[in-house]
Amino acid sequence: MVTTNDEAVSTVWNIHHSPRKRPRVPRFAADPFDALPDDLVLSILSRLASSASRPADFISVISTCKRLKRLAVSSTVLSTVSLKVFAIRASNWSDEAHHFFKLCADAGNMDACYTLGMIRFYCLENRGGGTSLMAKAAMASHSAALYSLAIIQFNGSGGSNSDKDLRAGVALCARAAFLGHVDAMREVGHCLQDGYGVRKNIMEGRRFLIQANARELATALISARELSPHGCQIRDSTIVGGCPLLSYFGCNVPVPESHPANQFLVEWFGSRRVGAPGLRLCWHGGCGRLETRIQEFRKCSVCRAANYCSRACQAVDWKLRHKAECIPVGLWVEEDGDDRVRAEAGGNVVMVDS
Ligand SMILES: [Zn+2]
Ligand SMILES: [Zn+2]
Repeated sequence: MVTTNDEAVSTVWNIHHSPRKRPRVPRFAADPFDALPDDLVLSILSRLASSASRPADFISVISTCKRLKRLAVSSTVLSTVSLKVFAIRASNWSDEAHHFFKLCADAGNMDACYTLGMIRFYCLENRGGGTSLMAKAAMASHSAALYSLAIIQFNGSGGSNSDKDLRAGVALCARAAFLGHVDAMREVGHCLQDGYGVRKNIMEGRRFLIQANARELATALISARELSPHGCQIRDSTIVGGCPLLSYFGCNVPVPESHPANQFLVEWFGSRRVGAPGLRLCWHGGCGRLETRIQEFRKCSVCRAANYCSRACQAVDWKLRHKAECIPVGLWVEEDGDDRVRAEAGGNVVMVDS
């Protein structure tokens, strides 16, 4: 039986049973987009979310109409949002941005869990909320989350000096290193060489350090090939904008880009002075971590002026910048002109407690 409120069926009935009436011409939707089924739009949104190269690529699209906005907040889409969408500028942070990160984290997006975890822990000083989000990502084998939790354990961040757990830090780092996290490999390597939180094993430590450099070189080569398919300049030690990070291998590579969470921290603490007076930033320019208590970070054992959240940050900053600041250049020139020797000497500049 035909129901009066079913317009489509009613139209068919009119066509076949009212010959005197002029048959209705089927009308197409004014906007073909309205005719697309929801599952197809969800699929397109998921593809967009996972391939977006900056926040605006995704946000500007879903802001165009109510339907896209409604479908975009489904867990199907939010769980696939790419890390680059979370590369939000600290100056653009707002309650709405926080809500978006939270929705993505609740949808099971581990990059959102990690990035929001870092922002909460360091910037919003919500230590418990930040740690639990990072732990959620770490349990899903998110290597950056494992590494950041390791730094928190090494420093006893958010607690007191007695909350340091070096063994837990090494264990978390080892897991992140196993998953290919370069900084974690460096951290484990230096821990083994220094006997910090683990039994000293210089050869094994060196193996980790070489592995970290090799992985970084491989990543740089792949990036260079993508940028220049006809050949790369990676072996050219005079490459513009390069750094001697891989001097073990006799080549320069561009400075690796920091994780969006670190970029956020750098901008956050660079643009506003927050936290208790006397808290120090990690000296590595790409890190952005701020101490959670006075004299939390360890310092360079030579100049005792530079502070670092981790041994990996110290090792990278040494090669990028600090070796020129820490010891007068004249001493290096007298000792040996070979950059490889200088870099390896830098690897022996350990950190001491503040
Ligand atoms: Zn120094
Ligand atoms: Zn650092």
